[in-house]
Amino acid sequence: MAQLDRVGDTDAIMSARQPTTNIMWFRRDLRLADLPALHAAAADGARVVPLFVIDPTFARSGAPRRAFLADALRALDDSMDGALVIRHGDPAVVVPALAVEVGADGVYVSRDYAPYGRRRDAAVAVTLDSRGARLHGVGSPYAVAPGTVNKGDATPYAVFTPFSKAWRAIGWDAPLDVPEVKWRGAPTVSSERVDTSKRRAHGNAQTWGVEASEVGALEQWRQFLPLVHDYREVRNLPAIEGTSRLSAALRWGLMHPRQLLADLEPSAGADTFASELAWREFYADVLFRRPDTARHNLNQKMIAMVTDTDTAAEERFARWAAGQTGFPIIDAGMRQLLASGWMHNRVRMLVASFLVKDLHLPWQWGARHFMRHLIDGDLASNSHGWQWTAGTGTDASPYFRIFNPTTQGLRFDPDGDYIRQWVPELAEVGGWQVHELGLLRPAGYPPAMVDHAVERDEALHRYRQVTAGSR
Ligand code: FAD
Repeated sequence: MAQLDRVGDTDAIMSARQPTTNIMWFRRDLRLADLPALHAAAADGARVVPLFVIDPTFARSGAPRRAFLADALRALDDSMDGALVIRHGDPAVVVPALAVEVGADGVYVSRDYAPYGRRRDAAVAVTLDSRGARLHGVGSPYAVAPGTVNKGDATPYAVFTPFSKAWRAIGWDAPLDVPEVKWRGAPTVSSERVDTSKRRAHGNAQTWGVEASEVGALEQWRQFLPLVHDYREVRNLPAIEGTSRLSAALRWGLMHPRQLLADLEPSAGADTFASELAWREFYADVLFRRPDTARHNLNQKMIAMVTDTDTAAEERFARWAAGQTGFPIIDAGMRQLLASGWMHNRVRMLVASFLVKDLHLPWQWGARHFMRHLIDGDLASNSHGWQWTAGTGTDASPYFRIFNPTTQGLRFDPDGDYIRQWVPELAEVGGWQVHELGLLRPAGYPPAMVDHAVERDEALHRYRQVTAGSR
C-alpha cells in the first residue's frame, strides 16, 4: 500500500497549478478512449508527450505477448498520427530523463496494481520527485480498483460470490470520450524503434484472430455484443465462437471493462458476462492484497501437498506442453495455445487440472508455460486461474474435484469438432468417437500417457495426506 501511495493524487495537483507540458506514460492502457489519465494529462490545454517504455523486464514475457504488444503499439502510434515516443530502458531512469528533456511537470499513468508495477512506479515517483516533477496515478485497468471492495469490517473478501455482489454495488462511472489533446511527441521528441522481429516469428493479429488495436477491439466487441445473450449457454463450448475473445484487448487496455459494462443490456447472458469481468477484478484484488500469491499457494494448508519435480516429472511436463498426452481434449488445448496464443477457458481448466491432478506437477510449471505462450497472459488471472484449478487458491474448486478429460470432452465438445480442428492426426475420426478412441486411435497419435482412474486415486491419496496432516 505504502508504495502505491507515493503516486500522487490527481485532484490535488490539478487545482494546485496548470502544467504546460505533461507526459502520458502508457503501460497497460494502449488506447485513447475512456482513459482518465489522458484526460488529466491534457487538462487546461497542456501539451502531452505520449510515452511507452520498453522495459528490459519485458524480455521475460513470452514472444507471442511481445509480438501482440508490438502490433498494439503501432496501432496506438497511428491513432495519434505518429506522435508516440518509444524509449528503451529502466523506467526509473528513462521516465525522469524524458521529463527533464521535455520540461514536463507531471507524468500521468493509470495505476498499476501488480507486484512489479507497484515497485516500478514507486521507484519512478521517487526519482521524478528529485527532478521536480510528479507521478500522478489516475484510474486503473479495472471497473473497480483493487483494494476498494471490502466487507463491512473493512477486510477483503476471500470468496468470489460476495465479492462480486459488493463489486456491483460499488459500481463504476460511464466511459469517457477521447479528449482533445495537443500532442508534443515524435518526431520533435526523439523516439526509438520497437523490435518487431518477434512479431514476424510469432504471428500477427490475423493468425491470432484478434485485432491488436483499439479500433479492432471495439469492432470485435460490436460483433460479439448481439451474441452475449446466449453467452451463458455457449461459453463452455470450445468448438464455437461463444466468448468475446477480448482477453488480450483487456490485458493491454485496448479497451476498458467500463466500456463493455456500459453496453450490456439486461439478460441472463449479459449478467454472466459481467460476472466473468468480475472474476478478472477479483483476482486482481487478491493479488494486490497478497502479491506473494503470484508464485505461492494462497491456501497455506496446501503447501504440504506433494508434487513431483524429478526428471520423469520434467518429461511428463514436456509431453503436456507439446500436446502429446494422448488425451484428445488436452492435446487440442495445448496445441491451440502453441498455434494461436490463446486457449478457450473451459479447456484451460481441463489442461490445468490434468497437469496438477493427473501428472502431479506443481501448478507453477503450468502457469509459467501459459505466461510464455498466451497473448492475454496476465499475472493475476493466470496465477489465480491456476490456483483455482489446483485447489490452492480462492474458494471455488476444492482439490478433490478432479476433471475426467474424456467425459469433459464428450460433454463440452460433443461432436469432436474442436479436437479435429487442433489435432490433425485425428481429423479422420468422426463425431464423438474422437474422445474415446479405442481401436480407432491412429498410429501417428500417442497412446494415453497415464490411466486417469489410477492418477485420480493417487491425487486423492496425496490430498488426504495433506488434510490428515492438518487436523
Ligand atoms: P470471455 O468469456 O469473453 O470473458 C470476458 C472477459 O472476462 C475475458 O476477456 C477476461 O478478461 C474475463 N474473464 C473471463 N473468464 C475469466 C476468468 N476465469 N478469470 C479471470 N478473468 C476472466 N485470463 C486472462 O485474461 N489472462 C490469463 O493469463 C489467464 N490465465 C488463465 C489460466 C487458467 C488456468 C484459467 C483456468 C483461466 C485463465 N484466464 C486468464 C481466464 C480465462 O480463461 C480467459 O480470460 C478467457 O478464456 C478469455 O477468453 P475471452 O476473452 O473470450 O473470455
